[in-house]
Amino acid sequence: MKKETKVTTAGRDAQRDQGMVNTPVFHASTVLFETVAAMDHAIANRNDVSYYGRRGTPTQRAFCQALSELESGEGSVLFPSGVAAITTSIFAFVESGDHILMIDSVYGPTRIFCDTALAKFGVTTTYYDPMLGADIAALMRPNTKLVFTESPGSLTFEVQDIPAIAQVAHAKGALVLCDNTWATPLYFDALAHGADVSIHAVTKYIAGHSDLMMGAATANARAWKQLQRTTFLLGHCVAPDDVFLASRGLRTLAVRLAQHHETGLKLAKWLGERPEVEKVLHPALPDCPGHEFWQRDFAGTTGLFSIVLKEGDKAAVAAMLDGFGLFGMGFSWGGFESLAIPVDPSAYRTATDWNTPGPMIRFHAGLEHIDDLIEDLEAGFKRFGAAL
Ligand SMILES: *Cc1c(COP(=O)(O)O)cnc(C)c1O
Repeated sequence: MKKETKVTTAGRDAQRDQGMVNTPVFHASTVLFETVAAMDHAIANRNDVSYYGRRGTPTQRAFCQALSELESGEGSVLFPSGVAAITTSIFAFVESGDHILMIDSVYGPTRIFCDTALAKFGVTTTYYDPMLGADIAALMRPNTKLVFTESPGSLTFEVQDIPAIAQVAHAKGALVLCDNTWATPLYFDALAHGADVSIHAVTKYIAGHSDLMMGAATANARAWKQLQRTTFLLGHCVAPDDVFLASRGLRTLAVRLAQHHETGLKLAKWLGERPEVEKVLHPALPDCPGHEFWQRDFAGTTGLFSIVLKEGDKAAVAAMLDGFGLFGMGFSWGGFESLAIPVDPSAYRTATDWNTPGPMIRFHAGLEHIDDLIEDLEAGFKRFGAAL
């Protein structure tokens, strides 16, 4: 079955759900058992049956089942945010004295977690060049427990050679985690390409409507039990109403992504021809670092990318962004609406240098008509030019 079909069928079972197309929203803290024997059975099977609200109701289980099916994983767990999914997935596989390898273009809050909370527990982090493939072997230590990947990288969009990294990591007994938020389960099969855990900010494309926070992690057989145990130990749970919204988002993920892909790529190409633009950072463009890996491993692009301007300052960028009608300014992305924010990756890098001639802007291509978006951009560049 193709992924486009799977998003409509995964986790659904009309017979189980009394004929309903969608799994009903079950609210629960207490789950009642008729007999002591039934309670004992639930305790023995507490990871797979309704047991206590914190471990989820049929609503959460159906959504986890859908994600596992889409990622071809052994199991999935849900979190109150994407960051909680990342921090818990790292925490599950390390102990005091361990070492991890972290991509230098990682999502900012992941870096902060490593430098503060992880460090406090005696786990050290080495940041690595996003373009390292098999050469990551040189950074592996005897106590390296995991290699964290995020492809493409946050803000700068380098695409990683994850199969090469996974081969090295597995040969040395380390696990590979992948923040797969950008590509979603539809456009990158993280587990099939060597990751042991695929992590998503469901907040972004899967939910898709800028109205909820949620994270998810899907693991293969090697990593699943440990991930699940840690998630439940830490007490993570998500509200059934949010799961309902996320499931609703999932059903239309394929058609939404197809449009984000098309509009994003058109905007990227249009921006690449502007005289003000030095460079467009977009995995589907041939000059993007790691473009060949995107071509080999990914099934599409989504709507998030950045541009580097040839010149300009904060005031000129503000003149452009402040006046946009359609491109909103705000964190997060993956909703139906277009966004544009100023970004500066140089502030975050430690393993690699990041220098650009002018400021950078990160765009999210939403579901508006391309002509309206380009009109908004054209007016923005006029304001930018006037402010220079
Ligand atoms: C937004 C984001 C996250 C964090 O998700 P939240 O739900 O906002 O906590 C993690 N990774 C990437 C790549 C993101 O863009």
